[in-house]
Amino acid sequence: MREIDGRAAAKALREEVGEAAGRLREAGVVPTLAVVVPTDDEGTAWYVRSIAKTADKVGLRCRIERLEQPGRDDIVAKLQELSADPEVHGVICQTPLPEGVQLADLGGHIDPRKDIDGANPQSLGRLAAGLRTWAPATSAAVLELLRRQGVALNGARAVVVGRSTVVGKPAALLLLAESATVTVCHSRTKDLAAVCREADVLVAAVGRARMIGAEFVRPGAVVIDVGTNPTPDGGLVGDVDYETVAPLAGAITPVPGGVGPVTTMLLLRNTVEAAELATAVGSP
Ligand code: NAP
Repeated sequence: MREIDGRAAAKALREEVGEAAGRLREAGVVPTLAVVVPTDDEGTAWYVRSIAKTADKVGLRCRIERLEQPGRDDIVAKLQELSADPEVHGVICQTPLPEGVQLADLGGHIDPRKDIDGANPQSLGRLAAGLRTWAPATSAAVLELLRRQGVALNGARAVVVGRSTVVGKPAALLLLAESATVTVCHSRTKDLAAVCREADVLVAAVGRARMIGAEFVRPGAVVIDVGTNPTPDGGLVGDVDYETVAPLAGAITPVPGGVGPVTTMLLLRNTVEAAELATAVGSP
């Protein structure tokens, strides 16, 4: 079994992003990511601080826009304001959202040129149509890890467990674009373990701690665990039962230290790309 080291992949990305951010700064442009935080959730606050810290290290500015008990219209107004601000190149909106508010609805108010986390339904549509766009960073991180591991996707059988708009669906579209044969599973899938055992590449994006056990995994399969489930002691576990699956898998991502660090770096890479496109300061 190979452990797929997300922190090492993030470090390599950090150098690439840092160089591109440096070129922009030399040209007088400070690549800027705005993060709208419509919640006082502690986990979200921790995550946003970690994005800001990483952004600072690679030469990006991160503007945190915290909203106190906002309604849908307050969040929409903030997203529109940031979309119109020429100093901002990327805009994301954190979850959890207030009761009854959907990210897909809010995402439509992020200018597609700044939609670096693929939250605007237009971005998902472009992804489905095979047009240039930014996919949601978590789904892109799945593909980035597979690519960096040299996992052959052409003709491979990929199974994605989870069909959310932010992870499962875009991950499936990205795998399809690499010519994998993709099955998407969800809570109504019959005999889930048997379907998962067909996978050469298994992506778990369920949100249920350690649900994917050894009986879901064909020996030698590559397993990407997107799940981040908080534990009572303040830690994190994935959707995959690492202890029983790792001995079987050909390669596997740990949690923490797998998909998460790469996701953060892709948010920053996409912001730099958005700044390059907006200012015509390109990479060499
Ligand atoms: P979500 O919106 O709750 O979607 C979960 C999906 O899993 C749904 O499609 C659901 O099916 C399916 N599901 C639930 N129980 C199932 C079961 N027993 N069997 C089969 N499928 C089942 O979650 P999400 O936003 O996609 O996130 C998934 C996980 O990824 C979470 O742990 C989240 O914290 C994590 N995450 C990690 C990152 C990162 O950067 N590492 C980023 C985002 C999310 P239905 O559609 O039928 O309900």
